[in-house]
Amino acid sequence: MLAPLALSLALAVTGDSTLIKNRHLERNQTVASALYAAGLDEATVDSVQGALRAAEFDFKRARPDDQLRFVFRHGQLDLFEYRRSLLKEWQVRRDADRWTGRLKEVERETRVEVVQLQVDSSVWDAAKAAGEKPEIAVTLSDVFAWDIDFYRDVQKGDVMRAVVEKVLAHGKVIDYGRVLAASYKGSTVGNKKSFRYQLPDGTESYFLEDGSSARKTFLKSPLKFAHVTSGFGGRFHPILNYFGAHNGVDYGTPLGTPVWAVADGSVTKAGWDNGGGNMVCVKHVMSFETCYLHLSKIDVKPGQRVAQKDVIGESGSTGLSTGPHLHFGLKRGGVYVNPLGQNFPRADPLPKELLADFRSRTEDVKSQLDAMPVAAH
Ligand SMILES: [Zn+2]
Repeated sequence: MLAPLALSLALAVTGDSTLIKNRHLERNQTVASALYAAGLDEATVDSVQGALRAAEFDFKRARPDDQLRFVFRHGQLDLFEYRRSLLKEWQVRRDADRWTGRLKEVERETRVEVVQLQVDSSVWDAAKAAGEKPEIAVTLSDVFAWDIDFYRDVQKGDVMRAVVEKVLAHGKVIDYGRVLAASYKGSTVGNKKSFRYQLPDGTESYFLEDGSSARKTFLKSPLKFAHVTSGFGGRFHPILNYFGAHNGVDYGTPLGTPVWAVADGSVTKAGWDNGGGNMVCVKHVMSFETCYLHLSKIDVKPGQRVAQKDVIGESGSTGLSTGPHLHFGLKRGGVYVNPLGQNFPRADPLPKELLADFRSRTEDVKSQLDAMPVAAH
């Protein structure tokens, strides 16, 4: 009876001979040196790097804190995993003497949740205080872009709520998906509520509670709300030079703030203008034309069609300018008009025959949106 016992002992030893090492890339450490530091010999390091390269691993993009996982069996590397972010993960496996690498699909999960932001100092801080990524502010500003200028209209005490899709990987939010419904309560902008609804042709659009469209021909602001880190750190109140003095409105902006077309149209000018520096002009319906001056970067070409919300360039300080700002001009029939004084009509409302369907399909998100907020944690 000795033989079987010896055999099972041997198996137990085999089972225990798996060794896992979890490491991360140190500052100034290359992938190769991290592999050597984990105890691999030169031939194995070469094989692993070759397999990574074959799986389109970009060695130049390796960063400190990237995660490395080594699985050794019988003292030999069997599996190597490299996680560069929540979404990019490589796996290198040994099969006898062959090594194969592949980019691993990271499982994503979408969850619908209610988010509430209470503005104290800035929208970014409000997002942080709510435990959200700052991108949520960008996502929400997009929903209200026809009615709220997120740079000028946001005040302390304003409250935003949204029923939004969160995209998760490894249990962490990596992105926001569609906003199903959103509300804004603000001292300057009043109360706004928008609901996402799918029309019979399959397109999705935002509508107000009464079925009127959330969309307008023109956006409220020529500046796309974005997480701009330079200068003001995403928190600034533009210095406004009102229309009259120089045929437009000036927005003080951090350098590189994205500038978007306020309406569909075609580019009439994209290039250098003496006083205006890098300048873009776009022709729209109803003989309207908009111009965007002093840009640091131009993203469009003359003659190009642009859609509302397309980024046409970035704010700068080119031409006659004393600091980073966007000069925004609006012409109607060739004559300058005050962009802040316009009241643009909304797009077509929902046809009456769709109202009942709209109400029933937005009922759930509406009650989620209106529910008493959970106490802040
Ligand atoms: Zn100006």
